Amino acid sequence: AKAAGRRQWRHYRPALQTGMVERHELNEHLDSAIAESAFQLYYQPIVDLRSGDLVAFEALVRWPHDRRGMVLPDEFIALAEESGQIVPLGAWVLERAAQEVAAWHAASSAARTAAGRPPLRVNVNVSARQFRDAGFVDVVRRALAATGIDPHTLVLELTESVLMRRDDRIHADMATLSGLGVGIAIDDFGTGYSSLSYLREFPISLLKIDKSFIDGLGHSPQQYALVEGITRIADTLGVQVIAEGIEHPDQRDLLAAMGCPLGQGYLFAHPMDSPDARALVRRTSYE
Ligand code: C2E
Ligand code: CA
Ligand code: CA
Ligand code: CA
Repeated sequence: AKAAGRRQWRHYRPALQTGMVERHELNEHLDSAIAESAFQLYYQPIVDLRSGDLVAFEALVRWPHDRRGMVLPDEFIALAEESGQIVPLGAWVLERAAQEVAAWHAASSAARTAAGRPPLRVNVNVSARQFRDAGFVDVVRRALAATGIDPHTLVLELTESVLMRRDDRIHADMATLSGLGVGIAIDDFGTGYSSLSYLREFPISLLKIDKSFIDGLGHSPQQYALVEGITRIADTLGVQVIAEGIEHPDQRDLLAAMGCPLGQGYLFAHPMDSPDARALVRRTSYE
């Protein structure tokens, strides 16, 4: 059923080629979808590459649409950013993800503590526009307050486009968030205007190496050296690395051997819906 679901999503993509009318229509649909909280979050496991332990999930938004089927974020996030709709949509995502991590903790924290493992975390994607919105820090505070979760179990994934702006408020907001205990990850590291100096300049706790670097690990000595170098430097600075888009066991083995602590990708699991994620949390907490 899962595989069929994925095929169907892909099948619907061509329908979303956006001309002006389409775009207008999509914006209106987005508005009502936001008003009705008609989105869904899927969750993809992030694992400890040595032990295989589940350490976190990344929350990934989906839009179940009556005519278009399950619409993937690549089809509407950019549009929502342009129109500003990402602000209410992103607030919903944060609140929903915080509720979900609260449910995982209720199901697993005692067992995980007994096993000496930290509580599960949730990683939430935050777009540049959303982060720059003046109300963003309050949205995070509200999500924390509404759910009572330990702020350390919430990680915000930001892309380099946020960090590129040398803006005082961005520095201040990052300091506030990190002061609350919230983790900050650089997403898609290596694809944009990547700079290791971001790791010095901002309170970064995690760095996600983009899939394009992981793809070439096995056959490109240059890619291998790059990933290993980034991992080493990050480790020295106390920043944890997550390798994204791991699809093959040999990639996992190379990464584990070079000391990359965390990984994510289809090799371990595809993004799954909330009931499946909860079932996985229960299964892995009582082993
Ligand atoms: P991302 O943050 O880089 O998320 C990783 C994407 O790679 C996800 O696609 C995930 O399903 C996919 N992926 C994971 N493992 C593998 C793998 O092994 N192989 C391959 N080929 N792909 C893999 P998805 O869910 O379609 O999301 C696409 C992008 O949409 C995300 O890229 C993120 O930039 C954005 N996005 C998703 N949810 C949100 C959200 O709630 N807010 C914002 N602002 N952006 C979001
Ligand atoms: Ca991400
Ligand atoms: Ca990414
Ligand atoms: Ca990406």
